[in-house]
Amino acid sequence: MGKLIVVPTPIGNLKDITLRALEVLKKVNYIACEDTRRTLKLLNHYEIEGKKLIPYYEPKEEKQIPKILKILEKEDVALVSDAGMPAISDPGYRLIRRCIEEGIEVEVLPGPSAVITALVGSGLPTDRFLFAGFPPKKGTKGFFEELQKCEDITFIFYESPHRILKTLKLMEKVFGKDTPACVARELTKVHEEYIRGSLEEVIKELESREKIKGEIVILIRW
Ligand code: SAM
Repeated sequence: MGKLIVVPTPIGNLKDITLRALEVLKKVNYIACEDTRRTLKLLNHYEIEGKKLIPYYEPKEEKQIPKILKILEKEDVALVSDAGMPAISDPGYRLIRRCIEEGIEVEVLPGPSAVITALVGSGLPTDRFLFAGFPPKKGTKGFFEELQKCEDITFIFYESPHRILKTLKLMEKVFGKDTPACVARELTKVHEEYIRGSLEEVIKELESREKIKGEIVILIRW
């Protein structure tokens, strides 16, 4: 019987991949991945050839699981997502859970993830943090009000560039303008930046820009 090997991949800089991750990707015949084109780009960069790629993305996850379990009866399968740690705001946990239920070994390689990178670079306290994923599009205010019940904690959110200002302004309403905040953008890439300050200051800085682009993590200390 094979095992499922969860392999994190770079969140921007292609050099951010461990020796062990490359070793696994070279060794396995099958790689379950979100977007085959993205994974091929990474494999080509590291001159890894001849892999069988199995699409594994939402909402096709449930449909693909039996196929992957069948391969796991005989040999190892690596699971990657487009970027970072699979299963963190990415497909993965359903397959992992099924493997555990079926008694299939699951091995997780440590590696890049935007949430931890942003937390450490934000300069906000790291003693206690809560990763809240992407704020829901509906009921966002109520979602923040629920979080507000926690104390002495750093909240971390993923957000898209076209929603960032709307989300930050709602946060300002709920948590207050003086709340310490950070927007971490384009981590590990050419235009990496951390915008640090109070929620009011961070909003002001972003409003002064013509366009907000790239991948974004929002952090606040509450
Ligand atoms: N699995 C990934 C991880 O471990 O970080 C997250 C995948 S999620 C679909 C994509 C979101 O993660 C982006 O919208 C952004 O909020 C955040 N993200 C990913 N890469 C990033 C980067 N290089 N800089 C800032 N945020 C990033």
